[in-house]
Amino acid sequence: MRLRSIELSGFKSFAKKTPLQFASTVTAIVGPNGSGKSNIAESFRFVLGEQSMKNMRGRRGEDMIWNGSSASPRAGRAAVKLIFDNSDRALALDFDEVVIERVVHRDGGNDYVLNGSVVRLRDIAELLAQANIGSSGHHIISQGEADRILSASARDRRKMLEDALGLTAYLYKRQEAVRKLEKTAENMREVESLRRELAPHIRFLQGQVKKIEESQTLRTDLLSLYLEYLKRESVYLSAAETLARKELDAPQREHATIDATIAQAREELSVAGRSDSKTQELIQLEQESRVAAATRERATRELGRVEGELALSERLGVVQEEHIPRQEARAFAEGLLYLKTITDVVVAAKKFLDKIGKPTSSASHDTATLVVKKSALEKELDTLQTREHYTARSVEVLRKEIETEKNQNREAERELFAAMARRSELGAALVGLRAKEELLKHEREEFKVELGEAAALLGRDVLAYESYKFSAPDEPRSEQPQRHRKIERIKIRLEESGAGGHSEILKEHQETTQRDQFLARELADLASSASALNALIDDLHKTLEVRFASGIEKINTEFETFFKLMFGGGTAALSSVRSDLGSHELRSDLGDEQIEVENGIEIAVSLPHKRVKGLEMLSGGERALTSIALIFAMSQVNPPPFLILDETDAALDEANSRRYGDMIENL
Ligand code: ATP
Repeated sequence: MRLRSIELSGFKSFAKKTPLQFASTVTAIVGPNGSGKSNIAESFRFVLGEQSMKNMRGRRGEDMIWNGSSASPRAGRAAVKLIFDNSDRALALDFDEVVIERVVHRDGGNDYVLNGSVVRLRDIAELLAQANIGSSGHHIISQGEADRILSASARDRRKMLEDALGLTAYLYKRQEAVRKLEKTAENMREVESLRRELAPHIRFLQGQVKKIEESQTLRTDLLSLYLEYLKRESVYLSAAETLARKELDAPQREHATIDATIAQAREELSVAGRSDSKTQELIQLEQESRVAAATRERATRELGRVEGELALSERLGVVQEEHIPRQEARAFAEGLLYLKTITDVVVAAKKFLDKIGKPTSSASHDTATLVVKKSALEKELDTLQTREHYTARSVEVLRKEIETEKNQNREAERELFAAMARRSELGAALVGLRAKEELLKHEREEFKVELGEAAALLGRDVLAYESYKFSAPDEPRSEQPQRHRKIERIKIRLEESGAGGHSEILKEHQETTQRDQFLARELADLASSASALNALIDDLHKTLEVRFASGIEKINTEFETFFKLMFGGGTAALSSVRSDLGSHELRSDLGDEQIEVENGIEIAVSLPHKRVKGLEMLSGGERALTSIALIFAMSQVNPPPFLILDETDAALDEANSRRYGDMIENL
């Protein structure tokens, strides 16, 4: 890998774009004071990522930018481009040419560009570390700093040596690994804390899940009890309801018709009440009959008397015939027929006798009268008998009628009473049956309520009771209350278990457990990556130790050689000032800096013919020579792509300058 060229634009005194080609192995830049030679050396530091403005003779980034002159206005930015030939792939980039560029703006902002792509400073640093050019800039010796490596602290010196030995890349790797380890440890702490936070929740959820499982067993028991209970109740109720309807049917219908029967019987009885007039008539008739009998008796007695008189008269024999016109006699007799009483007949007869006048003989006269009387009486008696007979028959008929009616009434009454008795009997029966029906209705309501409760607890599953088949169909209903008590007990236990929102809890439990398992896996992954990182760090540490030790050994050999060449004798050696503390243990509060402080590098020199041991006792020239010897030794062991020596010979005398020149040529 070779440095091909550098290009400055707007950097310090280089207002215009200024490319410098490095065609040969050694390039000398010459010019008068203030012509910008040192600025070029600083432009190298700048482009390689120097962060100390002081190291580039400035106070801030802006000082790097062309400040303007009477001929040319000041620039807005300073840019330096370094172009390497990378055909040997010394830099791990698949390009033959690698261009590193840094730009600083007036606002102090910096851009780093690698082959045209903006990158981070860290990317540049890591890339350059592979080419033994670290940020320590040990290969750029600025003006007046020829002895910088001697005046540097043990720690800075170690840093320069690490850079020179190409160990910075490992350091970066180790740094990166430590950083990752810290991050991993932090992640582990976070994951552990998350798991700790989850633990009580998981415990709670596990408790809930157990409760849910218990309650699920209870629900299963409850469901099977309910199915049987409900089925039995519904079968019983349906049968009882059908029976009750049937039982009510006949009495209801009879009750509806019995009223009609009662009404009819009442109607009949009210008609019977009207037969009183017949009784009145009967009394009248009986009265008449009695009068007729008395009249007849009197007439019979009269007839007997008349017949007696007549018999007497005939015995006397004095009978004088005298003729009454036939027509007249007949009229008289017929007239008599219409007379009711004997008195009337007597009156009529006297009148008739007066009309026809006194018979000639009294005897004959009396006989005739008696005959007439007798015949009249006989006729009357006959009439009376007929009448009496007629009246008696009427009485008889009437009596019979009345008797019949009475019989009829009694029948109606009997029917009425029977109907009324039946009606109250039916009424009582209906009351009983309706009470039974009411009871069934109530039970049906209770059944619905129970079904509702069951559905609220167990959901649609309870509806399966309709198709439930029980093994003992003959079980008496009296077993049901016991079953119901069991149901109630399970319900209470379910309520007490208090496991609500099943699906959410189960889901949450599953999710939380899964999350915990995920975290556990994550933790295991982190632990394994932490142990891998620890191993890597250990590995890198060992590699660094080994390489550093062997590098120092090699440098020491060269250092001694160069030193002897420079001073014509004497000895020079680097030695590690190390303390075991912190060298191996990687504690998060101990960064690389700390480790390196503990592992600094000291330089021990011994000049020929002089009893000088300490660096402080060397002259300026001796310091410059020692420093150059060390720089050359380092460059010999691990050559950097370039070395910049800005007037490093300044402190050397003629003889030493010449020797120095020869050595540069050899290098
Ligand atoms: P010497 O031989 O005296 O050491 P030199 O060639 O090394 O000189 P430098 O030190 O590189 O010269 O250059 C210094 C010059 O650069 C000074 O004149 C200074 O004014 C100029 N300079 C430094 N910074 C800027 C800047 N930002 N803008 C313009 N000029 C600058």
